[in-house]
Amino acid sequence: DSSCEKFEYQAEVNRLMDLIVHSLYSNKEVFLRELVSNASDALDKLRYLSVTEPDLLRDGVDLDVRIQADKDNGIVTITDSGIGMTKQELVDSLGTIAHSGTAKFLKALKESQEAGKDSNLIGQFGVGFYSAFLVADKVIVSTKSPKSDKQYIWEGEANSSSYTIREETDPEKLLPRGTRLTLFLKNEDKGFAHPEKIQKLVKNYSQFVSFPIYTWQEKGHTKEVEVDEDPTEAKKEGDDGTTAEQKKKKTKTVIEKYWDWELTNETQPIWLRNPKEVTTQEYNEFYRKTFNEYLDPLASSHFTTEGEVEFRSILFVPSVKKEELIDSKTKNIRLYVKRVFISDDFDGELFPRYLSFVKGVVDSNDLPLNVSREILQESRIVRIMRKRLVRKAFDMILGISLSENRDDYERFWENFGKFLKLGCMEDKENHKRLAPLLRFFSNQSENEVISLDEYVENMKPEQKDIYYVAADSVTSAKNAPFLERLTEKEYEVLFLVDPMDEVAIQNLKSYKEKNFVDISKEDLDLGDKNEEKEKEIKQEFSKTCDWIKKRLGHKVARVDISHRLSSSPCVLVSGKFGWSANMERLMRAQTM
Ligand code: ADP
Ligand code: MG
Repeated sequence: DSSCEKFEYQAEVNRLMDLIVHSLYSNKEVFLRELVSNASDALDKLRYLSVTEPDLLRDGVDLDVRIQADKDNGIVTITDSGIGMTKQELVDSLGTIAHSGTAKFLKALKESQEAGKDSNLIGQFGVGFYSAFLVADKVIVSTKSPKSDKQYIWEGEANSSSYTIREETDPEKLLPRGTRLTLFLKNEDKGFAHPEKIQKLVKNYSQFVSFPIYTWQEKGHTKEVEVDEDPTEAKKEGDDGTTAEQKKKKTKTVIEKYWDWELTNETQPIWLRNPKEVTTQEYNEFYRKTFNEYLDPLASSHFTTEGEVEFRSILFVPSVKKEELIDSKTKNIRLYVKRVFISDDFDGELFPRYLSFVKGVVDSNDLPLNVSREILQESRIVRIMRKRLVRKAFDMILGISLSENRDDYERFWENFGKFLKLGCMEDKENHKRLAPLLRFFSNQSENEVISLDEYVENMKPEQKDIYYVAADSVTSAKNAPFLERLTEKEYEVLFLVDPMDEVAIQNLKSYKEKNFVDISKEDLDLGDKNEEKEKEIKQEFSKTCDWIKKRLGHKVARVDISHRLSSSPCVLVSGKFGWSANMERLMRAQTM
């Protein structure tokens, strides 16, 4: 066929294909999850575009996914009525690694190979479309985009570095729109081509897809059929002139077999359900499947707001931090408008940067379907939503901190503590919510972090301020000479050992009307001054001080008598308005 064009895969695809085809990965069934999720994405795209171009749906075809298994031939077909692909899109999508998740997979794979580890990366990252080759040795993709009047066939084989594209010419195979994948299963994987197996996988992996997924199933209904008990006798009776009703006929139950499409998933999105009726297990599963996570979340929160602004949401706190930094763009919030998936690109509009680790779905009834970033940024509705979402996120985090299992919050703090400290700098309005969530080591708790509430509870009756010292480790904080008098008085002193700690504390300024006081600053007042005596000592040693100042020159600003030491002979302190030693370290680190 002259109209059949041959294309070479991009080098990375070859590597990936090679890996997939030869992988010993045992959990091959993830292929269905990947392909159904592509179908669902394609339907999402079409539904989204049809908001502004209703013509796209003029053919009246429903938005759904249909999966058929042919066990005699070992073939599985997956058909969606989504957006489809043009010829160019086929080349771009199924010949290169366009997909960032797959690129991440390759990067992780390289790293794990260098580290000599052999982990289950395929399942963890999901290798997208190419996962079809986990089970198939040939894949045919027939697809029709509304942007093109032609339907194209992409064909690829497991052990080939090229694929072909040709036009669909068989009128029987034309689709109104969308994509049909035909997988020709490898011999050892033909077991996937069983209707019951497919049904099980859909229920297991694609339960939260919001479009109907139908699978082709053999059905049977029972039917009563009449059978003559004895045909000769019946005939005789008939001859006697008896009516049909009186005839003694026997009925028999038979099962009539036929094939039909069966709805296989639950299409009501979980966030529309009554929170009282959803189990933790369902939330966890929804989370894992929606965000491609391995581990259950640390916490979740499902809520509806009504009144001024109406929306529903489920938020999650992950139990581990992905490698992403505070500044990197996240795709953690999936925004829906009236059930239509809009985008996962609006995290920054719906949450402040310091809460970017929160994942979830938000479904609004008040936003327009064609909502854009500009609209979101200007919208009063979004401002209110954002405020509520932030509050709910705080409630959820507070919930973890109140959990009986102290480990949970420690885990949270380890992963996301930095984010909350950033919050202290960036969100003054929420200081009241942030402060109780902070944790620090102290001279009385060197191994386990404490909260500010615990600190306050532990304050001495005469103590007015919250004391802290910044250092680069617990060990060096512990040995700070400034500590001596305070330790003697049994005052607790917070150890700020993370550079962000001090910045956070300085932004808060106070907690429960108690000021944060840096014990390394020169004017530390422990409220036990004896002015007479101090004056005396000052006079007595004024010459000594002058002498020392002369010797040190402008290495120091001043030399003074200290009343905060008990066993060390001297101490270097920061000026009242100067930077603390720790801040200096921090500034130096930043300018380098
Ligand atoms: P991802 O889904 O993360 O983008 P995949 O490898 O799963 O990565 O798919 C690659 C691309 O191929 C998709 O982004 C999409 O453009 C296209 N594609 C795959 N399956 C379909 C489909 N059923 N309908 C339309 N486009 C599809
Ligand atoms: Mg995909």
